[in-house]
Amino acid sequence: MNKNLRKAIIAGNWKMNKNRAEAKTLIEELKPLVANAGCEVVICVPFTNLETALAATEGSNIKVGAENCHFAKSGAYTGEISADMLAEMGVEYVVIGHSERRQYFGETDTTVNLRTKAALEAGLKVILCVGEMLEDRENNITEELVALQTKIALKDVTKEQLKNVIIAYEPVWAIGTGKTATAQQANEVCSLIRATIEKVYDKEAADAMTIQYGGSMNAANAEELVAQPDVDGGLIGGASLKAEDFSIIVKAATNG
Ligand code: PEP
Repeated sequence: MNKNLRKAIIAGNWKMNKNRAEAKTLIEELKPLVANAGCEVVICVPFTNLETALAATEGSNIKVGAENCHFAKSGAYTGEISADMLAEMGVEYVVIGHSERRQYFGETDTTVNLRTKAALEAGLKVILCVGEMLEDRENNITEELVALQTKIALKDVTKEQLKNVIIAYEPVWAIGTGKTATAQQANEVCSLIRATIEKVYDKEAADAMTIQYGGSMNAANAEELVAQPDVDGGLIGGASLKAEDFSIIVKAATNG
């Protein structure tokens, strides 16, 4: 219940959307709307928009993130991007282990751990995604599964490195479906993740950990979700593509 010990973060996940011109337009619209945000504002954009986003956000309070990175420093990994490449550009955040990466690109808890460590070693802040499928929830194994995903993803991550990790609890059944977890469900699992952090690290680390909710968060439901004691902001897909909607969510986190 120590919300004041940690920073709320609202991060947009643009997924595979927006060309360069559209990216610039969206950021220019967003800048004045979030200029007075009382929370951290991040936009995670496709690799092809990173340069545009970094230039357009310069001097503003909007931070830029990528949507994935590889675990190797360099080498024969055609089509991949390393954490060092992102850091060298000036990118600050990276999403790791998004459920779409797990579902469509064969990401496992083990590769999520490797990518997390590579990103942290490169000096990036990691938005680490965990969450259960609908079937897991129906089988009543959400608690065990999310704890396991969290533990494996953070294997060999030091307490010092953990300061640069944000966890996003994203129930897979709520992503892009318009089906949001209730505020109580979201808080329950965020609280369980915090308890897992306390077990693996300690109370200080758990109290300081930013844990977001993600899954069809929008301008209408954000206020209730981010007001929950263990929910420290959100990872936002669809609603991050509209400046007005995203800024309303940022405002909700400022108040929440
Ligand atoms: C996401 O992509 O992480 C996400 C939460 O998407 P949406 O908000 O569209 O459900």
